[in-house]
Amino acid sequence: MIYIGCHLSVTEGYEAMGKQMCSFGGNTFAWFTRNPRGGRTKAIIPEDAQALMNIANRENFGKLVAHGSYTMNLCSSKPETRANGLEMLRADLEKMELLPDNLYNFHPGSHTGLGAEAGIELIAQALNQALWSDMKTTVLLETMAGKGSEVGKSFEELRQIIDRVKCSDKLGICFDTCHVWDSGYDIVNDLDGVLKQFDEIIGLERLKAVHFNDSKNVCGSHKDRHEKLGAGQIGLDALKRIALHTALQGRPFILETPNDDEGYIQEIALVREWIKE
Ligand code: FE
Ligand code: FE
Ligand code: ZN
Repeated sequence: MIYIGCHLSVTEGYEAMGKQMCSFGGNTFAWFTRNPRGGRTKAIIPEDAQALMNIANRENFGKLVAHGSYTMNLCSSKPETRANGLEMLRADLEKMELLPDNLYNFHPGSHTGLGAEAGIELIAQALNQALWSDMKTTVLLETMAGKGSEVGKSFEELRQIIDRVKCSDKLGICFDTCHVWDSGYDIVNDLDGVLKQFDEIIGLERLKAVHFNDSKNVCGSHKDRHEKLGAGQIGLDALKRIALHTALQGRPFILETPNDDEGYIQEIALVREWIKE
């Protein structure tokens, strides 16, 4: 089986998100560790974090998947942006220790003109400064669509980041179906082939979470526009094959589709229907 959920807002705290996901019918979720524009975050209250862990244990949740801020760019050409990003990453990972054994995913970054190779090096340098050997969180690099100067648009680029990180046992990948498709991997007609490539280049054991999205655009478009399940170019048949694929069982699947609460509840119910068939 897989675990299914969506993004929630942390405004009411952590226990509140656990309760909300139960009411949505899901058994995992994601949240942005700070508002998408970056900036300060509320302190995490240990009792609130523990209350969420109690819900997650009791309800047999899959791993939770925190999402770093979009403004965090570890490979910007601007040193102050990189320094700021490293500070965010460190603060986020420190907070995650109160939610032990969960996942933290982030966008590797955009090299803003430095070139992919320099970007890869800078991302690895930042990770080498932020990760520590007995941390309890697994940090996930997200597969990217390749819009603009995004790093992480191919399995090879992600592998190169992993290879340069000392605590690489703390690293994994978040497989975003919209991004992978937009970056040119044909998960509609050749899912087995794409997962085989992933396995050969990175290793499927590193694939720790899935962002489960349809795409508004065609394979290889490098656009990154998410769509509701079944309303885009990937389509329901292919999405269902992904959710049921043996290589992806046990992973948290996070919806990042353009939906309101009711839409998420329906998509969660749809996926749960597939997995119990
Ligand atoms: Fe993302
Ligand atoms: Fe994503
Ligand atoms: Zn996206």
